[in-house]
Amino acid sequence: MTEYDIVIIGGGPVGLYATFYAGLRDMKALLIDAQDELGGQLVTLYPEKMVYDVGGFPGILAYELAQQLVEQAKMFSPDIRIKEWADMIERTSDNMWMVKTDKGNTFKTKTILIAAGIGRMTPSRLGAKGEIEYENKGVYYTVRRKKDFEGKRVLIVGGGDAAVDWALTLAPVAKSVTLIHRRDQFRAHERSVKQLFQVATVYTWHELKEVKGDGNRVTQAVIFDNRTKDEKVLDVDAVIISIGFKGDLGNMPKWGMNMKGRDIIVNARMETNLPGVYAAGDIASQEGAPKLALIAVGFGQAAIAISVAKKYVDPNASLFAGHSSEMDKFKK
Ligand code: NDP
Repeated sequence: MTEYDIVIIGGGPVGLYATFYAGLRDMKALLIDAQDELGGQLVTLYPEKMVYDVGGFPGILAYELAQQLVEQAKMFSPDIRIKEWADMIERTSDNMWMVKTDKGNTFKTKTILIAAGIGRMTPSRLGAKGEIEYENKGVYYTVRRKKDFEGKRVLIVGGGDAAVDWALTLAPVAKSVTLIHRRDQFRAHERSVKQLFQVATVYTWHELKEVKGDGNRVTQAVIFDNRTKDEKVLDVDAVIISIGFKGDLGNMPKWGMNMKGRDIIVNARMETNLPGVYAAGDIASQEGAPKLALIAVGFGQAAIAISVAKKYVDPNASLFAGHSSEMDKFKK
């Protein structure tokens, strides 16, 4: 079995940066992420938004920032596993950790860094009649491939950026796009909402009551005006429910770390109460420090956590490795 110096849980910006920094410190690293693409919230929640508060980038598209981070994370060839979820950790008799995943895999490691952000992001469900029955048979929560909606009559539920963006993305390929929203104010960018009204049929103050089908596929959606309760039956081939994401921490609260709500408590060295287990980024709450859920803060926390972990793995190593600009490994 491969033994790692560090297993990094979470492939968002902080986990990706930590993976790079672990490589810089010659640590054998494994990065595990539950989503099907690395980048965390940058790719799952707001890929097309500009980010302005990361040093060195006066403005960068979230998706592009994620790509740069992935490239940097891969610089020292770490092992990476996506679509896999760290389910449980256990201490071994030789003072190491076993990280067990939902895929039934077990990884042995000297240290663990938890950079899991808000946890595994799962789409919120509406609870409408027929919603579960027709999941993946016409009911979706996200758009994986635009092509799947070619020539389809699509109904989208929601008034946030995701819902409106899907409407704008699918309008050119779908037969028709209808969007319903439960009020007349949208959370989505104003400019996108303006475009929305040009390409889709929009019913504000409307909600989804029921999804109907022939047993195999969605054929109709029943929507209602939440002020008058008047119902409309729409002939549709697909219903995209885009009402936000929830963060799921799974079994993490049972791992034995001291937590405050959804946060893992760490000290100034990013250490949890468990030996060799660190946390950084949005999931970490540092004692005595203000919590700023910013990528910039997470990067700093990752560098501290990795440096402390390096010293834990190799007590002879120095805590601070020096500046990358002076390192041989970066000299071309
Ligand atoms: P949001 O939370 O922004 O929007 C969810 C929408 O669903 C809201 O309009 C909400 O209505 C509606 N909703 C929630 N629950 C229900 C319900 N039970 N019944 C009916 N409607 C409901 O989630 P998103 O996934 O759209 O976006 C998440 C984050 O990611 C946001 O910060 C967003 O800006 C960002 N994002 C950015 C993108 C971009 O920049 N292009 C693309 C995608 C996401 P109400 O408004 O009434 O609460």
